[in-house]
Amino acid sequence: MVATATVLAVIAGIGATTAFQAPASAKGRTFIRLNAEHKTSVARNPNFAKLQGGYLFPEIGRRRAAYLKENPDTGGQPIISLGIGDTTMPIPEHILSGLASSVTKLGNKDTYTGYGDGNGEAALREKIAKELYGNRISPNEVFVSDGAKCDIARLQLMLGAQVVTAVQDPSYPVYVDTAVMMGQTGEVDPATSQFNNIVYMPCNPANGWFPDLASLPHADVIHFCSPNNPTGACATREQLTQLVEHALAKGSIIIFDAAYAPFIRTEGTPKSIYEIPGAEKCAIEVNSFSKYAGFTGVRLGWTIVPDGLTYADGSKVRDDYNRVMSTAFNGASNIVQGGGMACLDPEGLAEIQALISYYLENAQILKQCAEDCGFEVHGGENAPYVFVDLKGASSWDMFSKILSEAQVVTIPGAGFGPGGEGFLRLSAFASRANCIEASARLVKLFKKN
Ligand code: PLP
Repeated sequence: MVATATVLAVIAGIGATTAFQAPASAKGRTFIRLNAEHKTSVARNPNFAKLQGGYLFPEIGRRRAAYLKENPDTGGQPIISLGIGDTTMPIPEHILSGLASSVTKLGNKDTYTGYGDGNGEAALREKIAKELYGNRISPNEVFVSDGAKCDIARLQLMLGAQVVTAVQDPSYPVYVDTAVMMGQTGEVDPATSQFNNIVYMPCNPANGWFPDLASLPHADVIHFCSPNNPTGACATREQLTQLVEHALAKGSIIIFDAAYAPFIRTEGTPKSIYEIPGAEKCAIEVNSFSKYAGFTGVRLGWTIVPDGLTYADGSKVRDDYNRVMSTAFNGASNIVQGGGMACLDPEGLAEIQALISYYLENAQILKQCAEDCGFEVHGGENAPYVFVDLKGASSWDMFSKILSEAQVVTIPGAGFGPGGEGFLRLSAFASRANCIEASARLVKLFKKN
């Protein structure tokens, strides 16, 4: 029974007493009268207090909900989201059949499986190594998982609190937030909005979205994402060669996020860091079926940790990651791994190409729209994100203006780090009809002003 100001917790058979509460017994049970403001005596992990606000995407959702609450008729038209990079197209037939047949196997005693290989089914690791890396890496170096975001966090768990991390600025917020949670950073500096002890690598139109590596302080771990979220920039072979040479020279480890690799259509542009000689000595790659095949809700990713990648003491990074995965993970779902196998069949690979083409065409529509509105525009080629240059205007103000005047959800660049301020991200993960409708609304809004 819950009273207005107090909660009664039932602890069967334990005559618990505490310094602050008197027990009252009834029918052989002991009740502790808890104050509604009851606090545990556990100290909060101080790293969590350093984090800035909420995680970006829930914050966008919160502002959208607040707008809806105040404007239930939303200006007479539905809200369109070009915000969070979440896939919208259904999973294609062949890939879906891989998921479905894995479900069926679970209902038959001859094909039922329980816990599997914690690093992923051997057949899937072999197929990833062959189809996506041309056997440049071995199946032994592939760790199948529930997605790239979770892998980024597990890599931080492995690296610990003592490393200095570098990130592209702007970047996917998970690299910085997990570094903060892990205790790698100091407080945020209010003057710069940057965390102490993180190396921010400025990426902007002036440097072609690629940092001047030589001018940066030393970092043990360099997070690098290409094609990039949020800028849509796609690093060239020359740029990635510079990155690998820099890491080899400084003894750093690169964590290369290739979650958008299949969007690369320009001939000769690397889709994996392992296309660059020497990367197997200095780079880990995280990747995911989320954007390849509409698996954002299905959850399947992988991380490559090369056998030749070592720490200063000569021990293998792979062995520690194996330890993390076997302790803090228990293998990706067997249903989902069946879907992953189907993704890498010739039919599945063709379906992925068709899905990506659809989103790339959307990106072209959004890019054209932003140009028609009079903005300078980046990305949108080899990437699902269009990054609109607001020429110094506040990105949260622009987010609010577009939401309230055109009922379109975008993402303010400031959510991706201080270097994203003054830019707005548009996501091509939407239906064609919504991209066309949102473009018409935006052109109307900006032509009017
Ligand atoms: N890496 C980048 C750069 C992303 O943008 C995202 C998702 O938006 C992820 C990783 C997360 O991928 P997953 O769905 O596999 O966790």
